[in-house]
Amino acid sequence: MNEISQIFEIVNFGLVILDNELNVKHWNQWMARHSGIEADRITGAFLLDFFPELNTPRFLRSCKMVIAFGNFSFFSQKLHHFLFPFKPDGSFKSMFEYMQQNCTLGPLRNDLNAITGIFLIVQDVTELASYEQKLVEMNMKDGLTGIYNRRFFQTRLSEEYERHTRYAGMLSLIMFDIDFFKNVNDNYGHQCGDSVLKSVAAKIGSIIRKTDYLARYGGEEFCCLLPQTDLAAARRLAERFRLHIEALMTPCQGHDINVTISLGVSGLHGEDSEEMLLKRADQALYDAKNSGRNCTVVMP
Ligand code: GH3
Ligand code: MG
Ligand code: MG
Repeated sequence: MNEISQIFEIVNFGLVILDNELNVKHWNQWMARHSGIEADRITGAFLLDFFPELNTPRFLRSCKMVIAFGNFSFFSQKLHHFLFPFKPDGSFKSMFEYMQQNCTLGPLRNDLNAITGIFLIVQDVTELASYEQKLVEMNMKDGLTGIYNRRFFQTRLSEEYERHTRYAGMLSLIMFDIDFFKNVNDNYGHQCGDSVLKSVAAKIGSIIRKTDYLARYGGEEFCCLLPQTDLAAARRLAERFRLHIEALMTPCQGHDINVTISLGVSGLHGEDSEEMLLKRADQALYDAKNSGRNCTVVMP
């Protein structure tokens, strides 16, 4: 081992050197630690025998380009997430199944400038990726309930509206508001009010389809956007929402708190604008409140 290669054993990234047939010539400590494969076991072996998941057209093409032309190749975390399926550090296990990696491939040349192999650098960028993911989520989710926030909802509504006008699919909206919610805060305190908001959001979130969008639209007001759903189906779903919330008990500080919701349903048709969809749902909700609450009103 020469002096420089000693450094490669202690650096905080993976370093692999392959010959032109993709046999492993060097496998540093970092790679051994994260793969569980010691250097003396893999050295001399065909890399893909140990990592069959690298047998992809993209990886093989990159290796060929390095060997044939001396090109560099980059596998970014944003696009590929990882090359080597290593476990992430403990604190990121809930967020990522695999360590997120930026990987670079490049040529190794001898004194005659001939390409004799490939070097592969593997950087663990899981921590950075987790910050980025958290930022993206904070930007679109409501902090208390974990469902989408109003801004993200507005963006989704515009996108679904565009899709609707282009492909003439169906699009419906349910707007609902907790009845006499002020009383919950007054009787049980703000903290219990928060618990009720969370459990209402969680209950409705468990009922809807993956393609529906549930958002906290205001304090105790929610919107649910239903792509590919006609008015009759939206109405049936709104009634399911209402009955589930009517039966829901939120335990808080020794109390079992029960609330009801009022719902307004609207559907997009003709030359409607997206504002009209919201406006009609809002009007329907207002009518539901005036009709005694704990009911659904449809505004066709
Ligand atoms: P209505 O049946 O007409 O909807 O009556 P309401 O009492 O639900 O409506 P009102 O608009 O009078 O009161 C809404 C209350 O919701 C007032 C506000 O303090 C409370 N609220 C808004 N956001 C939050 C929150 O994040 N947490 C808690 N605990 N309360 C909130
Ligand atoms: Mg209310
Ligand atoms: Mg309200």
